[in-house]
Amino acid sequence: MTDTTTHAPTDVTYDALFVGGEWTAPATDRRIEVVSPSTGRPVGAVPEATEADGDRAVAAARAAFDDPAGWSTWAPEDRRDAIERLAVALEARGPEMARRVSMQNGMPISISTALEAGFPPLLLRYYADMVVSTPAEQVRPGLLGGRTLVLHEPIGVVAAIVPWNFPQAIAMLKLAPLLAAGCTVVLKPSPETVLDAFLLAEAVEEAGLPAGVVNVVPGGRELGAHLVAHPGVDKVSFTGSTAAGRSIGEVCGRLLRPCTLELGGKSAAIVLEDADLAGNLEALFGVTLINNGQTCWLNSRILAPRSQYGDVLDILGGLAGGVTIGDALDPATQIGPMTSARQRERVESYIATGRAEGGRVVVGGGRPEGLDDGFFVQPTVFADLDNTARIAREEIFGPVLTVIPYDTVDEAIAIANDSDYGLGGTVWTTDPERGEAVARRVQSGTIGINAYANDPTAPFGGMKASGLGRELGPEGLGAYRSVRSIYLDASAGAEASA
Ligand code: NAD
Repeated sequence: MTDTTTHAPTDVTYDALFVGGEWTAPATDRRIEVVSPSTGRPVGAVPEATEADGDRAVAAARAAFDDPAGWSTWAPEDRRDAIERLAVALEARGPEMARRVSMQNGMPISISTALEAGFPPLLLRYYADMVVSTPAEQVRPGLLGGRTLVLHEPIGVVAAIVPWNFPQAIAMLKLAPLLAAGCTVVLKPSPETVLDAFLLAEAVEEAGLPAGVVNVVPGGRELGAHLVAHPGVDKVSFTGSTAAGRSIGEVCGRLLRPCTLELGGKSAAIVLEDADLAGNLEALFGVTLINNGQTCWLNSRILAPRSQYGDVLDILGGLAGGVTIGDALDPATQIGPMTSARQRERVESYIATGRAEGGRVVVGGGRPEGLDDGFFVQPTVFADLDNTARIAREEIFGPVLTVIPYDTVDEAIAIANDSDYGLGGTVWTTDPERGEAVARRVQSGTIGINAYANDPTAPFGGMKASGLGRELGPEGLGAYRSVRSIYLDASAGAEASA
């Protein structure tokens, strides 16, 4: 049960869009109304950007990028100083940022405080420092006697399209490296999470970034598709569902436009027989249920040694059945609501599918009592299904776990790899070397041993239907740079070297 008094009525409204460094009138009077999934009550409204607003935003980003004395030409130190001001402006808004995210998408406030408010300034500083410390130009001696000047230049105007589940962290996975690289951006947040994006725009304004470097246009998939194909856009950076990613990839393929696609997942936790699950419950919660199960890399398939199947079910059942469910703004809440009524319907239909497929519900399976106003579902653990079940193959995007038995480690690895996706995963063992040996054999862009954390220094991204390209690490910066070679005049001598 939650203390609903924590969810004070709020009305965050905006009437203008942040485009070209100014708060400008939208092209139409269409509005996006935001509803709290914890209470079902409206919490704010903003203008809905249309294609005409998208065009203005691209034009502003284009002008800012093409300005011969503009952002893209600044010394890395000057960009770093501006990015530092943005980090400070975001830190000053940290508590409000966390509150807005949680009241829009149902993320428990303890998580939004750490990941939506705390993580973005860290990322901004990481990339701003990287650009200062890593030269963007290099002279390479060639094998044929000459030398080449290699240039890493900002790629241009980026359309950044983000989902609602980690709206600020995911926006910053794109903004931090692209700004550091010298690109400009049109950010399109998801309609479910727009109030946080306007707070980001306020921080950009306060930080004094040049006009047009960051533009924010909230809208739906039509606006997203318009930006993807827009002639003024040089690169698309998308995070969202695999279905949308495929269609964006098709358009970008036709246009030969670079794109980074961070898509869905159905990752596996491989529990080896020497694992200490009971001693690592916090980490286990983190990889199976964090953000109400609405996390792309979550381990929604748990692979357990058949000899310990009952024990693993007991541990997971105890974990999922013992969490505190409630209003996302209550600091005690571990599991909040699904982001929308539609999302809850989707999760409940998968629970029905799991039952129809012969799955046994170990814990959960319904709605929690006393939380009738919000879009809550109980964390649910299924047993007695194998990896062919639909709920073991399709991304549910909710707190629904399937525990699958295996007989040998080779079989566990084969089950983990028997998926359309390849984004995250974990191996649970008290033998780190063995854990690493198993992790190396899992076809997945990232994997953890006894825990999982997206460290900023480590490239993150998917294999197979989980996407193309990488974010984070130096690789994440490379995604916003194009590389050119100038074969130097061999007669110019060594003094031409940078
Ligand atoms: P979604 O694909 O419906 O929407 C994501 C964003 O893309 C939204 O802003 C939406 O308006 C826009 N959009 C949708 N269709 C589009 C199109 N055809 N062209 C251009 N823009 C389009 O996804 P969602 O429901 O908002 O988010 C959940 C999905 O995101 C899950 O599949 C989850 O796994 C995935 N996700 C992946 C990562 C990752 O890093 N791999 C991270 C978070 C979420």
